[in-house]
Amino acid sequence: MPFLKSVLKQYDLVADKLELSGNVLERLRYPKRSLLVSIPIEMDSGAVKVFKGFRVQHDITLGPSKGGIRYHPNVNLEEVTALAMLMSWKCALMQLPYGGAKGGICCTPAVMSIKEKERLTRRFTSEIIWAIGPEEDIPAPDMNTNMQTMAWMMDTYSMLKGHTSLGVVTGKPLVLGGSLGREEGTGRGVYYMVEESAKINGKDLKGLRIAIQGFGNVGSAAARLLCGQESKIIAVSNSKGGIYNENGIDIGGLIQHVKENKEIADFPDVEIITNEELLTLDCDVLIPASIEGQITRYNADKVKAGIIVEGANGPTTPEADRILSERGVCVIPDILANSGGVVISYFEWVQDLQFYFWKEKEIHQRLKEIMSDIFNSVYSMSQEKKINMRMAAWMLGISRIAEAQKIRGLYP
Ligand code: NAD
Repeated sequence: MPFLKSVLKQYDLVADKLELSGNVLERLRYPKRSLLVSIPIEMDSGAVKVFKGFRVQHDITLGPSKGGIRYHPNVNLEEVTALAMLMSWKCALMQLPYGGAKGGICCTPAVMSIKEKERLTRRFTSEIIWAIGPEEDIPAPDMNTNMQTMAWMMDTYSMLKGHTSLGVVTGKPLVLGGSLGREEGTGRGVYYMVEESAKINGKDLKGLRIAIQGFGNVGSAAARLLCGQESKIIAVSNSKGGIYNENGIDIGGLIQHVKENKEIADFPDVEIITNEELLTLDCDVLIPASIEGQITRYNADKVKAGIIVEGANGPTTPEADRILSERGVCVIPDILANSGGVVISYFEWVQDLQFYFWKEKEIHQRLKEIMSDIFNSVYSMSQEKKINMRMAAWMLGISRIAEAQKIRGLYP
């Protein structure tokens, strides 16, 4: 099922349970604004190539919109729309004063030079400049974008506005108003959610056997922190395939190996496995941290993990979700599990607006407190209403926006 269709299907289920009224129900089904821009840039060869760029602002009832920018050959308007909608629910669930947005450029970053990526980012920023800003819409990194991408966006925005604007993007380098802890924020949040879910399932982090699909920003940070608690990361993968060691992979060594641009398949003391095999490995916790639509009705009944913590956005299809629920698998949904990134982005934005920066310890403490509190609210609601944690998380997020829309009223 296409990603947007599956997100809307889940929305309908939740709206039904919440008994949302016609007006609010319809308003939240569609994005507030969708931008499709063409981005012509000169390639290093001298040829001009035109790329498609997108920015979708789903909802701004609670505040400016917020969401990442993704560079990937499969990026399209439907995918970005679905991801923007998930951002609205996520920000509302985490009680942040934000609506949801997402953006992306359809391109293949692996075959582009740094200079080409810089020109692409700067031209994209100038094409969407009237829609973004610290009080309008605040982009952040996502797949294949990073601190450098955000620095180019911030610089382009600032040059065109004629003043330096720190709060226009988050996920920036520290020297440009970035926040301590942001780079690993999503992975750290995933780690806290593994800790909380282990607790409610009567398990200890020590010795917990974990498989992680996707060894990028989110997957590698979560792996590193979990290893620090003596959990065993028995498998990891990337888009090319995975590696497995039943006694646990040396994650510090693997991070260094990847930094040296070496293939994970060439790492010593591991067996090669496929991504499909990784998802169905015998383990305690599965962390999908790559792309959407990985756990489907075709493999959900083969998943052996008792706990799934969704690092990626939308890794489980609604059919798979139903199968996992019936099987009693504890699924910590994406909008909760990977919210560490947006929560620390919020901290970064607050620091930028105040020109006053916090210590790393303070950031970790506040993140843990917020994520644990919301985890407990979602868990209590799921127990009370006998629903799964995804349904509870979506209900909490959507009802907050619905309530705000009701109080704000309908303009004009
Ligand atoms: P990344 O680009 O740093 O890493 C992605 C990883 O997934 C890479 O190892 C890549 O090789 C792998 N991958 C890509 N396609 C794959 C496939 N078909 N099968 C298996 N592996 C595949 O990206 P990231 O920032 O770590 O983001 C990962 C996921 O987490 C995405 O779904 C993203 O939307 C979500 N997310 C990221 C953040 C963040 O702060 N970076 C925040 C919230 C959610």
